[in-house]
Amino acid sequence: MHHVRVLVDAPHHAGVDAGFDYLSEQPLALGMLVRVPLGRRTVPGIVWPVAGDARIAPAEFKPIADVLRAVPPLTAAWRALVGFAAGYYQRSPGELAMAVLPPELRRLDSVQLERRVARLSSGVATGASQRPASAPALTDDQGVAVAALAAAAPGPFLLHGVTGSGKTEVYLQAAARALAAGRQVLFLVPEINLTPQLQERVAERFAGHRLVSMHSALTPAQRLRSWLAAHLGHADVVLGTRLAVFAPLPRLGLIVVDEEHDPSYKQQEGARYSARDLAVYRARLETVTVLLGSATPSLESWQRAQVGAYKRLVLPRRVGGGVLPQVRVVDMAAVPQRSGEQTVVSPALHEALRDRVARGEQSLVLLNRRGYAPVLHCSACGWKSGCPHCSAWRVFHKVDRTLRCHHCGLSERVPRACPDCGNLDIHALGRGTEKLEEQLALLLPGARIARIDADSTRLKGSLEAQLAAVHGGDIDILVGTQMVAKGHDFRRMTLVAAVNPDGALFASDFRAPERLFALLMQAAGRAGREAAQGAASEMWVQTWHPRHPLFAALARHDFDAFAASQLDERRQAGLPPFAHLALLRAEAHEAARATAFLHAAAERAAALPQAKGVTVYPPVPPPMARVAGVERMQMLVESASRTALQRMLAAWSPALIEIGKQKAQRVLRWALDVDPLAI
Ligand code: ADP
Ligand code: ZN
Ligand code: ZN
Repeated sequence: MHHVRVLVDAPHHAGVDAGFDYLSEQPLALGMLVRVPLGRRTVPGIVWPVAGDARIAPAEFKPIADVLRAVPPLTAAWRALVGFAAGYYQRSPGELAMAVLPPELRRLDSVQLERRVARLSSGVATGASQRPASAPALTDDQGVAVAALAAAAPGPFLLHGVTGSGKTEVYLQAAARALAAGRQVLFLVPEINLTPQLQERVAERFAGHRLVSMHSALTPAQRLRSWLAAHLGHADVVLGTRLAVFAPLPRLGLIVVDEEHDPSYKQQEGARYSARDLAVYRARLETVTVLLGSATPSLESWQRAQVGAYKRLVLPRRVGGGVLPQVRVVDMAAVPQRSGEQTVVSPALHEALRDRVARGEQSLVLLNRRGYAPVLHCSACGWKSGCPHCSAWRVFHKVDRTLRCHHCGLSERVPRACPDCGNLDIHALGRGTEKLEEQLALLLPGARIARIDADSTRLKGSLEAQLAAVHGGDIDILVGTQMVAKGHDFRRMTLVAAVNPDGALFASDFRAPERLFALLMQAAGRAGREAAQGAASEMWVQTWHPRHPLFAALARHDFDAFAASQLDERRQAGLPPFAHLALLRAEAHEAARATAFLHAAAERAAALPQAKGVTVYPPVPPPMARVAGVERMQMLVESASRTALQRMLAAWSPALIEIGKQKAQRVLRWALDVDPLAI
């Protein structure tokens, strides 16, 4: 009988990170998928290297229940990636490994899995009969980038290309090289349903190869099929969202991370990993090239490129000589305001929209707030539509006359009168996309107006249908949130307007300006993509702060200048990428309890020898302090050195687990977020 160590799904606080010990009749390769008895259940597991002593005597080792021989063992590279990610993000490797494997794989026994695998290899069309779409002649800039990639040793590259510069073509050429060498390509995108065009382009270009997608909208059966195709080496291209960074790829040859700055690459619950950062780590681990692409790179990646850790590739021009839209900044202070109501659309923008409609061109009007109005208000007693469970207003949705909390989901019919004083005259304050749509319809009679936001696209297929209407030219004006600002290749759009972007200028989060700049640059990128229209295309920004440097840089399409000024500020303030952060969050029914947990945690941190060079800040409430009746508090941990921070977190983590179990400091939930996106 052979001793095997098996990793199972157990959280960090269970204290069994190293796995459990079992017996097997045959020796089992590391990375083999198995099922093992645990307590009274049989659970999935992975054969893992033995680290540390067995927790029970060998005589008590139980036999392995089942070995999933239908699939080869997970490779050493995969295990190294999972091991690293677990350590870096302070999770248990077993929990992380199980979270990134397809749910079906954890459920099936060896017989069921064998059947699935057999079904997979029979009857699957390879697509080899289709003729691949031919590649266009590269632009000079693309040619330089592709040649640089081909000539260089594997490593990380930052592809900085303005919107419409043809970044995708560079990805495709790099992918073609990898495929020609018999390697697999991992293609990461932020949100798959927002980029159906990209999927089509990849599929068309590589029609002779097998493409699978991997994202959370797949059915469990589809997810298993994609995973098996990747792991068995049948799939040549895996196109997926952040979880695909863990796809097992025995022949991995290239990783592409499109829109690398996008916040969706950061997982926001469980193991809070950054798929972008893990992609870079994985590429180094497997000695392959990783290509990070964006028109507005994250300042982290930008800084890495500045210091030469990433090689920089630049596409400074639009394909076909198209010019970037002209930016028009409207000073709202100079716009005459009607009494009571704030002007939504300045007269100049109104006229520009009217001209576009008359010429049969499309416009995009952006407002990053859905619903009709962010709050209802009683002018007699001052009542506002607050959420009883959250520190947020409930948003007025006119279509179904509800007041809805966007944080806990509480939804009620709009009261006929003020609940506090009975006054019948309650009115909407501010404006969301619903109201903007309504007001535009009044301003532009006859124009075909559509709205795309999280509300209008709730039904399956509705986003696709709405996008098709835009592409088909059935829409004159599209109103939307950031959902429509990125990625889409709208060919008839000649005007993009941000009607009220000011909120982000003074937000408390230090990344707010970076995100606003990226959003506006991306949005501007939706206009004038057809070279013939480029000269006439415009990006409008309505603001009360027209002289803000962010808008000045935007007007010049000058990402470099914006990045330089932001990096200066970050350097002076000691913020990322010049410092490294972790955030300890705690949730409890009373804020005092959450605070007590954090205080206890801080005390333990102060006692750690590894805390040298690491600063632990006092607990503070986050911007959304109360959600669904639960109070949140958070505590920032910072160091100029990533290594110092990592060393401290590793030492601190067991202490946190211990505190979390003590009655006096018990909280509902606590979590450590390493490299948090927002603080
Ligand atoms: P980006 O991702 O940089 O915004 P895309 O990759 O979407 O830009 O390219 C913009 C448009 O230019 C697309 O319609 C694409 O088909 C086209 N395009 C890209 N490269 C070329 C080329 N070398 N020749 C002709 N058209 C190209
Ligand atoms: Zn009232
Ligand atoms: Zn709520």
